[in-house]
Amino acid sequence: MSKDGKSKPQEFQAEVGKLLHMMVHSVYSDRDVFLRELISNASDALDKLRYEAIAKPDLLEQDPKLEITITPDKKAKTLTIADSGVGMSAKELTDNLGTIARSGTQNFVAKAQGKSKDKDAPQLIGQFGVGFYAAFMVAGEVEVFSRKAGAKACNVWRSNGEGTFTVDEAEGQARGTKIVLHLRDDASDYLEAWKIEEVVKTYSDHITHPIMLAGEDGEPKQINSASAIWMQPKGKVKPEQHKEFFGALSHSAEAPALTIHYRAEGKQEYNVLLYVPGDRPFDLYDPERKGKQKLYVKRVFIADDAALLPPYLRFVRGVIDSSDMPLNLSREMLQNNPDVAAIRKAVTNRVLQELKKLGENDSAAFAKVWDVFGPVIKEGLYEDWERRDALFEVARFNTTKRTAITLKDYIGGLKENQTAIYYLTAEDAAKAASSPQLEGYKSRDIEVLLFTDPVDAFWVRTAMGFEGKPFKSVAQGAADLDLIKPIDEKKEETADTPETAALIAAVKQALGTRVSDVRTSKRLTDSACCIINDGQMDRTLEKLLSRQKDSGVSVSAPVLEINPGNGLVKALATAVKTKGASAVEDAAHLLLDQAFVLEGEQVADPASFAKRLDAMMAKAFS
Ligand code: ADP
Ligand code: MG
Repeated sequence: MSKDGKSKPQEFQAEVGKLLHMMVHSVYSDRDVFLRELISNASDALDKLRYEAIAKPDLLEQDPKLEITITPDKKAKTLTIADSGVGMSAKELTDNLGTIARSGTQNFVAKAQGKSKDKDAPQLIGQFGVGFYAAFMVAGEVEVFSRKAGAKACNVWRSNGEGTFTVDEAEGQARGTKIVLHLRDDASDYLEAWKIEEVVKTYSDHITHPIMLAGEDGEPKQINSASAIWMQPKGKVKPEQHKEFFGALSHSAEAPALTIHYRAEGKQEYNVLLYVPGDRPFDLYDPERKGKQKLYVKRVFIADDAALLPPYLRFVRGVIDSSDMPLNLSREMLQNNPDVAAIRKAVTNRVLQELKKLGENDSAAFAKVWDVFGPVIKEGLYEDWERRDALFEVARFNTTKRTAITLKDYIGGLKENQTAIYYLTAEDAAKAASSPQLEGYKSRDIEVLLFTDPVDAFWVRTAMGFEGKPFKSVAQGAADLDLIKPIDEKKEETADTPETAALIAAVKQALGTRVSDVRTSKRLTDSACCIINDGQMDRTLEKLLSRQKDSGVSVSAPVLEINPGNGLVKALATAVKTKGASAVEDAAHLLLDQAFVLEGEQVADPASFAKRLDAMMAKAFS
């Protein structure tokens, strides 16, 4: 602090500066959310104090009241939001309000910057919920007075949102935090009591602490119902209330796609209110894969990182409130607490059950959920072996014949003598559909599952099978199709003649180490050739892993399978017979390159490829 008692202005972290610029300059149609954000912070601060006071009751000082007070002042044009929560020290004011700690907000800035114009930022603000800084949507200057619970010093953080802020000592005040917004002229409607009440009703009614509106005259009055909606009987909660509560949890403006609300009774008693979002959360693929479920004990907030659901259900938001766990449960103890483990298990099963039910009863609603969250839920197929069968009842797949079917449906469509569940992994649906590897299966009317999510290539390797049938890749190992009759038997012409054998020898010689083997194919009926993998891994998986730096996996040399019934292959066989092996050298390389292209891969050596193709065309046209 300098001599005149004023501190030097400090610069915001760069991201905050950008964020503030967006707040101040973008016209966000739904500015009301600033109040939701400030109330939500106040409520968090009250929750924190209540939790800490279980171990240290002294923190409540003489004042056990935990509430939020909103005071409009028309003369001064200020709106003040005060809470009697934990408060912040001078350092916390600097750290919490001068930098962005939340990865969510950082993501927001990164994403908003990628947009070409500021006009795209508003939707993003709604989607991400940018917390405290939303205050600058309505205020030209913001003062945050705060006294930490248990401490004497009071400090004030001030900023006009233009790049710098100050933190100074302030006159003593009540415990907690008081945020004074100096409203801009265009935001003066937030000084009206009706407006404040309306906004609180819309966004913050569920806050479990009382929200008081201090009038110009008379006593403050409570303007939220402050009832924990998860404690109410299921039938009592209206869809709007769910939408409001879910909106506050997720910042989403959409209604939830699925609401799971029940009370568990028996050995353990707890209330559950969980939502599956109706739209894709921005952090769905955040590498931390953290769950978003809050743990309460008897309506006291305990933690929001208790991992109440497994990572593959991380997108499910909501609250679990235990009626009989001890309140003094420390956050560290949560990991190994047997009661928490039992709740975790039961609630996970319930969520999967509800998803299954939705799939059975409302396929359109389920399809939307599956479209967004299917790839995440499928992570459970290799992480949660215990629930693999339950997950298979939820999972939907596309096949060469049908869309959105379950594995049970697939089993129902097995051909006579079909002993395996056939699948093809590919990077997208278009590549899958055009795969030559499917030809032999199509000609036998065998349904093949099309796996186009990267996660599919992973789980299918560890899955033991389903209903006694193993999973088998149509692009890996030898095709075992002999037992199943083709629809049109004439098309099959896979006998190994001496000519074909000679061609194979010639192609092998030409390609050398580019391939691990060359052989005739059972899976092709039309195309000349295709590549497959013989080893442990499916080619799609090998490609996925080889892109990860430390996987130690590289893409192996494939097996080239050729189709002896194909006209070009026949012609090449004749050429080998009449002119010798060297006659097909260029053709062999071109065949292999073509097979790579069909797999969506690159030609290994484009220069040689072009030279060979030119030579071939020159021959054809001269
Ligand atoms: P978030 O609430 O997601 O953490 P915010 O931008 O809303 O992000 O708030 C940043 C941080 O500032 C909070 O995490 C909290 O530590 C602190 N904070 C904000 N408002 C208050 C308050 N009323 N009382 C105590 N701490 C607060
Ligand atoms: Mg917040």
